[in-house]
Amino acid sequence: MNKKIFVSTSIPYVNARPHIGHALEFVQTDTYARYRRLMGDDVFFTTGTDDNALKNVLKAEEVNEDVQPFVRRHAAYFKETCDRLDISYDCFIETSNSDIHTQGAQKLWDLANKKGDIYKKEYEGLYCVGCEEFKTEKDVNEKGECPEHPGKKLDLQ
Ligand SMILES: [Zn+2]
Repeated sequence: MNKKIFVSTSIPYVNARPHIGHALEFVQTDTYARYRRLMGDDVFFTTGTDDNALKNVLKAEEVNEDVQPFVRRHAAYFKETCDRLDISYDCFIETSNSDIHTQGAQKLWDLANKKGDIYKKEYEGLYCVGCEEFKTEKDVNEKGECPEHPGKKLDLQ
């Protein structure tokens, strides 16, 4: 029986050029998508870039470049990597340059908002820009640093 299957990579931040870890994920995901197609499944394979991240903004500022051209240039490096590796994606989405993404994100936002899942509230926590997430006290090391991004005590945000 043929199945409809949705396959996706994670979408990397574009604060730097792609590295071998990105290539590995693209190839692994592509291998799975190709295998499922060979099995007769109807596969939709998407990949792309996460252009909307604080770490992208901070890196652009660090190299004294406007954010939008910085992000677009780095997103292009990721697409080029996929194309050079002959990744069989059906859709490559750059989150800052895609009508499909904007419409989908807006639809999700509207649905969540209608259900009351979106609300304003004060929150303060330890934030790691490298991870793009809040950490709890048990997540940080004895110096108050993210174990994945040591060298800087996390600040309350
Ligand atoms: Zn971190």
